Amino acid sequence: AKVFVYDKRFDGLPKEGDLKLIEEELLPIKDGEFLAEALYISVDPYMRYFAHILPIGSTFVGQQIAVITESKNPDYPVGKYIAACFGWRTHTISNGTTDLAFPTGVVPIIPLPDDEEIPKSLGLGVLGMPGNTAYFGFLELCQPKAGETVVVTAAAGAVGSHVGQIAKIKGCIVIGIAGSDDKCNWLKNELNFDHVVNYKTQDIDKTLTEIAPQGVDCYFDNVGGEISSIIIDHMNLNGRISVCGCISGYDGKKQMSPNIQLPMIMKQLRMEGFIVYKWLDRWSEGIIQNWEWIKQGKLKYKEFVTNGFENTFKAFIQLLQGENVGKAIVKV
Ligand code: NDP
Repeated sequence: AKVFVYDKRFDGLPKEGDLKLIEEELLPIKDGEFLAEALYISVDPYMRYFAHILPIGSTFVGQQIAVITESKNPDYPVGKYIAACFGWRTHTISNGTTDLAFPTGVVPIIPLPDDEEIPKSLGLGVLGMPGNTAYFGFLELCQPKAGETVVVTAAAGAVGSHVGQIAKIKGCIVIGIAGSDDKCNWLKNELNFDHVVNYKTQDIDKTLTEIAPQGVDCYFDNVGGEISSIIIDHMNLNGRISVCGCISGYDGKKQMSPNIQLPMIMKQLRMEGFIVYKWLDRWSEGIIQNWEWIKQGKLKYKEFVTNGFENTFKAFIQLLQGENVGKAIVKV
């Protein structure tokens, strides 16, 4: 097996040399075990944050789509596809549990929908963890109503682009915030967002005043930091904030606490953070609904594919630099 091992603690943006690519010998499988071969590896923003607590020398964390190639476990027969948190490795021997120990405890191996029509890679994106993050994290915590105004950050990413489209399905006015004109054009022209803001070239505060004089009812927060403080200042009475991610703070550096208390009090806002696995018992509900919306043409997705397992770390750095549109994955 080829395995990426965490070798040097990240200091600033992760760089070449922080991970080591090694070869690991595989033992014969025992009773109750199976061998899985990775087809697609996921690179996700949270990995930068997890790296602060991941012990040096560990396999780097992450989900993959794998196919079972040998098995002595009847629950995992040869040919079955799974989404599993095995980390960045090409081959894994498992007994059917994974122990992504932080912060949620054991994350079970999730079977993929059997539908032959579904490309397997979607199990890492729109029909997997990010898709359910958008589905549950937005609908459950923001409780959007038709006619309300919704703002989403990292809007051209896997989760953000999905949230914005669910908000459109629910009849909301959707404002997406993203880091390039190309991303903004995609959101506006192909995903029908009502407004877009390029946070690198436009003043968010001023632009929101112009495009959303009615105020903001729901904010789906993927980035945290100053951008979020500015948006929260534009919220309406009884607004809802779903705190999904904090990518601006994943470098582990202490951030100045944004002054959000005043709008939280005066507008009586509700702000709630979540980890998507809290909805594990309803997992298939999200997958089925998202697949339904795709088939109806209401939900579009993009995959940002890097080829070759050895390029996984490069793909991760590109993601952190905002080069991806849609879900960043690696085709092994
Ligand atoms: P994305 O596909 O959105 O990729 C990350 C994007 O973030 C980049 O493309 C970049 O786009 C943007 N970005 C990077 N740095 C900054 C910055 N400093 N300020 C603002 N934007 C930045 O990733 P995902 O869709 O996979 O994840 C989105 C968020 O959701 C992440 O914070 C992630 O950790 C979180 N998440 C949370 C889950 C949960 O259970 N709570 C589950 C899954 C994801 P741009 O060009 O626009 O800057």
